[in-house]
Amino acid sequence: MIEFELTPEEEATIAAAHKEAEELLRPIARYYDEHEHESPKDFIEQQWAQQRSGGGGMLGLGVGAALRIEETCWGDAGLMLVAPGSGLGGAAILMTGTQEQQQRFLKRYSEGEPKWGGMAMTESGCGSDTSAIQTTAVLDGDEWVLNGEKIFITGGQRAMDESDGLVVVWATVDKTAGRAGMKSFVVEAGTPGARIEKVENKLGIRASDTATLILDNCRIPYENILGSPEVRKVDSGQTAGFKRAMATFDATRPIIAAMALGVGRAALDFIKEALEKEGIQIRYGAPRHKLTAIERDIMDMEAGYKAAHMLMLRAVWMMSQFQANSLEASMAKAKAGLVVTRITQKAVEMMGPLGYSRKYLLEKWMRDGKINDIFEGTGQINMLIVARRVLDYTRDQLK
Ligand SMILES: Cc1cc2nc3c(=O)[nH]c(=O)nc-3n(C[C@H](O)[C@H](O)[C@H](O)COP(=O)(O)OP(=O)(O)OC[C@H]3O[C@@H](n4cnc5c(N)ncnc54)[C@H](O)[C@@H]3O)c2cc1C
Repeated sequence: MIEFELTPEEEATIAAAHKEAEELLRPIARYYDEHEHESPKDFIEQQWAQQRSGGGGMLGLGVGAALRIEETCWGDAGLMLVAPGSGLGGAAILMTGTQEQQQRFLKRYSEGEPKWGGMAMTESGCGSDTSAIQTTAVLDGDEWVLNGEKIFITGGQRAMDESDGLVVVWATVDKTAGRAGMKSFVVEAGTPGARIEKVENKLGIRASDTATLILDNCRIPYENILGSPEVRKVDSGQTAGFKRAMATFDATRPIIAAMALGVGRAALDFIKEALEKEGIQIRYGAPRHKLTAIERDIMDMEAGYKAAHMLMLRAVWMMSQFQANSLEASMAKAKAGLVVTRITQKAVEMMGPLGYSRKYLLEKWMRDGKINDIFEGTGQINMLIVARRVLDYTRDQLK
């Protein structure tokens, strides 16, 4: 039976995350939006101390962790991505690494100085089509030699240049094998041949760094490959290497949905409060034809939020039960990405020029929200996955 009920401890953690979002993140959100590439040092130290004492940490597999992330993003999504931790790299290691590798690579995130992690899949010719990876990994003696260029890595600079972190890099060990040749490798900070080339200037989530990583004859130990080095097909449409990449996305997409919902709810709460101040009440029980346009809009926004929230909870819960959740993860991600885009745009529209002005964070939430419809698979790509799973079609049949 699906069980979304939270323990009293989880409820207390989520309440604490909301308080923190309100008192710690909101006051500095505008500054770090306007000062892209500047690090919020106090916030990082505070988050790291909290994580080390076991009170925080952004990565988790349960409903409680997802709700905590939603609260943090209600405060500020860009800053949430700056909080130290293993990030998407950690998710990939948890989903594809052995227990020994999890221990070896993730231990650093509970000791010493703040550290970050990232995951590098995207290349200039490969993002939605992850199977088109050009970065290569060639075995030479007891080392893998990586060559290629990875772009748009969230937290890449902090992971590789500003801490003793790591990036999980997806590369092919055999281009002729297509998807079966795709493998993931852990590249640790300070590895010769791995360098951060540039950091993007972005529309939103500007506190978060998004970096390009160059791999130029980058040598890593043989043991840094996650999963089996063997290239083998497991069925006609899918392959082992590709399946592992998708398993990572099944874990991260519901979390992106939670992030989106945090931003969406920030805009929704704001606009409802503004209407209330103007004496505009939302008449929930009234017949639809008697409602004003504003009331209908607010109700549609709330309905979208709630539907996406349920999808997100279901996808996260299934993941926490180790159930296959590809369909649910893509549903949650596609819906939440769409909902946050609509809610934030509508809220800006309702406020008119004040919504467009930098006086309030509303315009920022509109910019921050959009990324959730782009990274970890765009809305269109997740809808294609949903269609394939619902219809039980292979990739080729859907084409
Ligand atoms: C701020 C930010 C952070 C990111 N962080 C990371 C990260 O940490 N790690 C990482 O690996 N990547 C990251 N990315 C990259 C991101 O995941 C990709 O940009 C995304 O998956 C889209 O891939 P693409 O860039 O190749 O776009 P394209 O595939 O070129 O897409 C362009 C448009 O075409 C549409 N499209 C493409 N194929 C189809 C199709 N078959 N059917 C219908 N429509 C289609 C897409 O939906 C989109 O609207 C990040 C990107 C940004 C902007």
